[in-house]
Amino acid sequence: MLRIIVHGGAGDIKSEEVPIRVDVCKKACSAGFSALKSGKSSIDAVVEAVKVLEDHPLFNAGRGSYLNEEGNVEMDAGIMDGSTLNMGAVSAVTCVKSPVELARFVMGKSEHNFLTGKGAEAFAKEIGMQFEPLQYFLTERTVKLYRKTQFGDTVGAVALDEAGKIAVAVSTGGVPFKHVGRVGDSPLIGSGFYANDSFGAVATGIGEDIMRLVLSVRIGFYLERMDLDKAVTQAIKDLDVINGKAGLIALDKMGNISFHYNTKGMLYAYMREDLRECVGGI
Ligand code: ASP
Repeated sequence: MLRIIVHGGAGDIKSEEVPIRVDVCKKACSAGFSALKSGKSSIDAVVEAVKVLEDHPLFNAGRGSYLNEEGNVEMDAGIMDGSTLNMGAVSAVTCVKSPVELARFVMGKSEHNFLTGKGAEAFAKEIGMQFEPLQYFLTERTVKLYRKTQFGDTVGAVALDEAGKIAVAVSTGGVPFKHVGRVGDSPLIGSGFYANDSFGAVATGIGEDIMRLVLSVRIGFYLERMDLDKAVTQAIKDLDVINGKAGLIALDKMGNISFHYNTKGMLYAYMREDLRECVGGI
């Protein structure tokens, strides 16, 4: 059974940008699904999917990441292999082209789970990763958004491969005009992402809210007494206690796919073998 779901952020998405954003989410979904179809693992699939979105200037991850208060990018990413519970995460990286790939290498090639800032970049250098100057990450859009308070356009993916293994990945530039050193939920296990042998989930929205509820792992607790869709719905409902704003994408080992949000919208795309092409929307 092959499954993948990706998201391109939750929030108030400008209506004229919706078609192009949905289209790119579908492309990312389709890149991940092709990886699964060619026999690659769910980890490969989520990295392939997230990289498409990191490379696209319209999304707040990799190129196109929002700028912090000093006008620099500080990017966060996380990845988890549900079959082994191995994880990798990075925060506050400024010049690594693909933060999600770096998170994957932290998981696979370092002795640690989470590297931050300069240390993460030194590790990236040691293993020969691609670096880009600040100019590469800046776009007209993010320069315009400097000093604006908003969230959105973060990216993530959850996949199930032929061997029944679930993996998740997330990548973000955080929120515009953030304090230097601010880290959101995205690279935090349990909050921005979680996977085990029965489900995988990725969150997007206001990081400060998501981490207070440890939103992604909550689905696992609810799954003990309800199905996936109800579990995701309940996790989103839990945000009401703190008036939090977020969205979740998830899938389980039976191949069920679910996504819910309490923001104005959330961009998504998913794919299963019985579909002719990725289904995407907002
Ligand atoms: N959750 C991300 C953060 O707070 C932002 C987002 O999902 O748009 O860094």
